[in-house]
Amino acid sequence: MRIGVDWGGTHIKAAVVDGANVRTHAAADTNPATALDDIARLVDSLSPEPEQVGIAIPGEVRDDGRCWRLPNVPGFEGVNIAAELQRRIGCPVAVENDATTAALAERLFGWGNTYKSFLLVTLGTGVGGGLVLDGNLRRGRSGFAGEIGHVLVNSAPDAWLCGCGKRGCLEAYAGKAGLLRRYAESGGSASSVKQIAEIGGEGADDVWRQMGDALGSALGSINNTLDLDAIVFTGGISNSLHLIEPYIREALGGRAFAQPLADVPLKVSQLGEHAGVIGAAHLPTP
Ligand SMILES: [Zn+2]
Repeated sequence: MRIGVDWGGTHIKAAVVDGANVRTHAAADTNPATALDDIARLVDSLSPEPEQVGIAIPGEVRDDGRCWRLPNVPGFEGVNIAAELQRRIGCPVAVENDATTAALAERLFGWGNTYKSFLLVTLGTGVGGGLVLDGNLRRGRSGFAGEIGHVLVNSAPDAWLCGCGKRGCLEAYAGKAGLLRRYAESGGSASSVKQIAEIGGEGADDVWRQMGDALGSALGSINNTLDLDAIVFTGGISNSLHLIEPYIREALGGRAFAQPLADVPLKVSQLGEHAGVIGAAHLPTP
């Protein structure tokens, strides 16, 4: 029995997964101090003796199972989450970055059945990504492959500051904080991107333009390098992709080295809210 866990920082989802199907699932809130115990308890509630457990985590993972750090969860620098959970749960545990895990789910059960090489872009509080090339999930040398969020889209000295500490990253302009900032500078007031989409109007259009410009610029450079079969979007904001796509296309066309690179298909993942746990359940265990 495979169990997939999606650890989103303050919330954990876990599910018994069979292929692309979720048999049963459970969820719990958590905090940094108790997260590992909470995950183990949630897994135990689904199955006291699981055969294999995979966890998607909000950060990157080294080859040896240690994570580099979790940007939104303090106290996990260099922690071997796989080993810690294996000790608590008592079966092999695989750990992988959440966006890379979502790319695996897409590879197995989504657009990966149509396109062999694609970048999965996760749009949410931050901007993340996972990369599949010629049908194979790529982790990269250090676990960072596909992390599009910190591609430079503005090199001006006063470019917006990113959560990573550098300036001008894609995430600074296309992540939640940057989108809310743009909306405020256009005279609007909102606490979520969903709210901006509901209100609509010119202020919202300024937001979609900024997001599309930044995404298209980054994706243009990336596609000049990788010549992908498709780019797939997922995450809450991807529901508004039709509003953003014209701006993405324009910026992508401006960056693309040749027309075929500008014409890359842009798709929205159809896997839905369970993609994280489904991908996690299929992570290869060490
Ligand atoms: Zn950054």
